[in-house]
Amino acid sequence: MPSSSTRKVTLLGATGSIGRSTLDVIAQQPDAYELYAVTAHRSREALLDICLRFAPTRAVIGTESDAEWLRMQLREGGRGDVDVSHGEAGLLEVSRAAEVDTVMAAIIGAAGLLPTLAAVESGKRVLLANKEALVMSGGLFMDAVTRHGATLLPIDSEHNAIYQCLPMQHRGGLSRHGVSRLLLTASGGPFWKWPLAELEAVTPDQACAHPNWSMGRKISVDSATMMNKGLELIEACWLFDATPAQIEVVVHPQSIVHSMVGYADGSVLAQMGNPDMRTPIAYGLSWPSRIEAGVEPLDLFAISRLDFEAPDESRFPCLRLAREAMQAGGTAPATLNAANEIAVQAFLDEKLSFLDIARLVDATLAATEVRAADSLDVVLCEDARARQLAERLLHQRSF
Ligand code: NDP
Repeated sequence: MPSSSTRKVTLLGATGSIGRSTLDVIAQQPDAYELYAVTAHRSREALLDICLRFAPTRAVIGTESDAEWLRMQLREGGRGDVDVSHGEAGLLEVSRAAEVDTVMAAIIGAAGLLPTLAAVESGKRVLLANKEALVMSGGLFMDAVTRHGATLLPIDSEHNAIYQCLPMQHRGGLSRHGVSRLLLTASGGPFWKWPLAELEAVTPDQACAHPNWSMGRKISVDSATMMNKGLELIEACWLFDATPAQIEVVVHPQSIVHSMVGYADGSVLAQMGNPDMRTPIAYGLSWPSRIEAGVEPLDLFAISRLDFEAPDESRFPCLRLAREAMQAGGTAPATLNAANEIAVQAFLDEKLSFLDIARLVDATLAATEVRAADSLDVVLCEDARARQLAERLLHQRSF
């Protein structure tokens, strides 16, 4: 039976990889967490299963017809009391709901921006997995966190690791707190050792077969191109008030060190653990306490060695493109993100080769003027414009 200290959680993107890991952690702590709302886009059967198992107060699905189907199935399953809504309005409502104190933002891509911002603007504890939201709207997003007194906890394992290694107070410039640099680790993805010539023929299934992490298809492709690390570099700049020059990307193929913080006195603090997203999710849910996450204890004798290498940006140009977009500022990261989402979907649909992902993103950025990202309207407008441009360049094969 939930007690008065039970945290009520909205889980945006419940049917995804992060969503499932979050459900797993919550299932282990039934007294501490109660699911208020769960959302999905198209996976109605999976959402139905979650509703039957967890009995949330509310559920949100993409379309009206899927919502109707879900209501009917829930009635038949004896859970007609779950309030089902649909579309963006439904997502915004469950992000803002007064009953909720914690929102896990685990929708993939730009679609997560408005519901995540709604949670921030309602002063919630926001567990941020949806890195694309922060990449698109960086300054506006962080200003909203401060203005509305939201608590922002990074769930991306690297940022979660950095958060754990930083002093509790770290806003206002890293050097003020004795931090000299952030070391962002990268597994290198499945093609780290592949010769460039072989990358042209990579298939979506090969790109999605990550050596260490089990993730959704979009982020798996981003890991394979290293755009994921580029998006994470931008994310880290906003989260930790850092410049791109303060962030060093370190390829660490074992994915045991999840990232590090270097201090002025020469100390380097690392956060380690098995590559399992339940660790950062549990940290975000329970912060500043710690809870069981169901993760295997780290066996250093079995791992026996940890390797570190410098990234090769000539073979993985997405990392450079992301750093340049952050340096350009304004709407450039939103353009990068939009073009990348179009390119990755085209690759997954087998309309674009693996190496063309970076070429299409590069061409979209080159054909775009950077504007000041001074309002959400500007950011959303740039997102839509960059998608159209990337689609056109893709159609014309001019990249
Ligand atoms: P998945 O693709 O596995 O899941 C995405 C979730 O978002 C699903 O619930 C999906 O619903 C929902 N969704 C997709 N499109 C929309 C839309 N237009 N409107 C509303 N909901 C939508 O993604 P992941 O769980 O892998 O990733 C989620 C986020 O977390 C991403 O931003 C990713 O970068 C980040 N992340 C993921 C990690 C991982 O290990 N997977 C690690 C670190 C960060 P449906 O099932 O119906 O399509």
